[in-house]
Amino acid sequence: MKDLFTNPVCFTRSAATLCTAMGIEAPKESDPALPWLANLLVEQMGGCAEKTLFFHPDAVAQWLWRKYPEYFVPVLRHAPMPVPFSAVMPSVTPVCFASIYSGAAPEKHGIREYRKPILTIDTMFDRILASGRKCANVGSDGCSMAAIFADRRFDNYVTQDDMDTYKTALRLLEEGSYDHISVYFGEYDSFMHKHGTEHEIALDKLKEHFEHFDRLAACAREAFAGKRHLITVQTDHGVHDMTDGRGAHGTDDTDDMNIVHFFGAYRG
Ligand SMILES: [Zn+2]
Repeated sequence: MKDLFTNPVCFTRSAATLCTAMGIEAPKESDPALPWLANLLVEQMGGCAEKTLFFHPDAVAQWLWRKYPEYFVPVLRHAPMPVPFSAVMPSVTPVCFASIYSGAAPEKHGIREYRKPILTIDTMFDRILASGRKCANVGSDGCSMAAIFADRRFDNYVTQDDMDTYKTALRLLEEGSYDHISVYFGEYDSFMHKHGTEHEIALDKLKEHFEHFDRLAACAREAFAGKRHLITVQTDHGVHDMTDGRGAHGTDDTDDMNIVHFFGAYRG
């Protein structure tokens, strides 16, 4: 069941939207915010977000949500506002996360193929840091999120695998010393590349990602209680199956381009 069209709003508009909702400046070269979404988030929080948790599971196509909505219950529990977006081309991890965090198209941010150089363009992380907030990024060794921001002056927790990422992020949330935490999980992507997008092993990983998100978000909401806070689930691109049964992405097919980001906005 293919989508008939690519989602018209690109996720390059989410960086300025989130920064507006956080009451901080947008990345310098970002596409404009979506005023309706920024206003809605601020309205729901009763002001701008003081604390934020951004959760990034890799390769969660829009069609996965439509086909397996029951897997997304933990997502809806903590981030109940879904917004459809399109990814950027090529729809691969470092290119897409560079666009999500800079709000800029690949031709502006400079990562235009599957490689993981340090991203030099201004990003949400730079704006969060400039606002004086304490900021952490958690992801496994070699992943795009750990690699392309490796020079930033925040606490970059490089872990062994997703389980280590989960435990590390949980500890950081329990300690309560950060204003912003980004968390990346990549094992659904790894397993679907090997076995296919709907192989049991891959789908079990997807479910596990969301179970871990459930716990992380619950912990965040407890740790952030008393402060206005924002919880997001933002994937990087979708997925499709190849003729040999393995999963892939990187094309401009709607299966790869159409994704949904989820937002949860809470009063202090
Ligand atoms: Zn990816």
